[in-house]
Amino acid sequence: MPLYSDLQEKADLLKSGNLSLHENVSGFLTRINDSDLNSFTSAFESESLSRADEISRKSRSGSAGKLAGAVIAVKDVIAIEGKHLTCGSAILKDYISPYNATVIDKLIREDAIIIGKTNCDEFAMGSSNENSAYGPVKNPLDHDRVPGGSSGGSAAAVAADLCDAALGSDTGGSIRQPAAFCGVWGLKPTYSAVSRYGLTAYASSFDSIGPLAKNLNDLELIFDVISGYDDSDTTSNPELRQNRPSDAPFTIGIPDEYVAGIQNKDLLASLNEFRSVAEKAGHKVISVSLPNTQYAIAAYYILACAEASSNLSRYDGVRYSDRKSIGSGLSDMYLTTRESGFGKEVRKRILMGTYVLSSGYYDAYFTKAAKVRRLISNDFSEAFRSCDLILTPTTPDTAFKLGEKINDPLQMYLSDIFTVSVNLAGLPALSFPFGNDSKGLPFGLQIIGPAFSEKTIFSALRNIL
Ligand code: GLN
Repeated sequence: MPLYSDLQEKADLLKSGNLSLHENVSGFLTRINDSDLNSFTSAFESESLSRADEISRKSRSGSAGKLAGAVIAVKDVIAIEGKHLTCGSAILKDYISPYNATVIDKLIREDAIIIGKTNCDEFAMGSSNENSAYGPVKNPLDHDRVPGGSSGGSAAAVAADLCDAALGSDTGGSIRQPAAFCGVWGLKPTYSAVSRYGLTAYASSFDSIGPLAKNLNDLELIFDVISGYDDSDTTSNPELRQNRPSDAPFTIGIPDEYVAGIQNKDLLASLNEFRSVAEKAGHKVISVSLPNTQYAIAAYYILACAEASSNLSRYDGVRYSDRKSIGSGLSDMYLTTRESGFGKEVRKRILMGTYVLSSGYYDAYFTKAAKVRRLISNDFSEAFRSCDLILTPTTPDTAFKLGEKINDPLQMYLSDIFTVSVNLAGLPALSFPFGNDSKGLPFGLQIIGPAFSEKTIFSALRNIL
């Protein structure tokens, strides 16, 4: 029996002196040490325990912040001052961050405890967490299966109760897909609703930081704390969260193109089950069309690789990274540093990105994909004329086996088929566990809203579930 059902209850128990935060944090630390999931790249033992004592005192005197005592793990692509920031890559194995990401400052200000950094695919490139230089992460629900990626360590840590909640990053599905595979809740916020300052860039026009949690309340609480305008990220947005009356019936659209792509009968049954739950709760469910869905994966991988090839040029052995100066001359140093520091998937994406940005192919690939991005975004705007929110599965299937797709990049990329369009359009989307397959593994469903409609998504789900 868990000691508390959500973070608010935990804060209340701390305030009334009915929960020992010290014991709670040492319990998490013991479980992290004993775990064989490989979900953490580092844990901050002594600091977490002394923070626990400090926050306990604040709680009892009534001066603790909104996240009092919340134990949070952070994907290792987000900067924490004085800590390793490996990004799952060998090239940054000795890099220590000199500053905090804005989200970290915000969590600490509200008295969260950052317990450690979580493993992930190298530079957040992947869908299975098998691309980490620090080894794959196991799915806590079945150790032969992947936890999803790239925020696989964060999802596994939340699902295995190695922390209360975690931060991940989502460029094409990396919060939602692992949340679905591990049976937890994950929110990809609207692009620019959360500051990216201190998030290692993968594809800057797609990247979003967001929470993974055990329930809806915690997801919302953490989002409230980390969102908002930040002077250090000029793309972050001051205009947050237009609201809609939360008790009015919603119209929920299910895209025909997504339903046509579902091959798993149990998944279709779960989607239909949610549909009837929503209808019974008085909401209307209709069909909508997102006609350019079929081009989403191709457009995403062209644009994301293009941005990645540019962003990753900074790891050159001079500004960052573990320098390898074998041979002679500067270009030799660049080549050996980058060749030995980057893993196979990252090198492949840098090559692909450089290719689509080269002068001979720029118009054929990059410009074309940018136009498709606009069409996909227009599809959503059109659909939101007839519905408030859109419902889809998060992934076409439940967690696959370790090793099953790693040598088949197309199959791997297709596991993002239901998530990437949301990033192309910059929209918010929440993945929640709903239903299981015949093996008992969880499905995730996804609610997508118009830009800055996070509050509407939260209230609709609270209303329905
Ligand atoms: N799986 C996708 C990719 O490899 C998405 C990754 C992400 O969202 N960081 O690009």
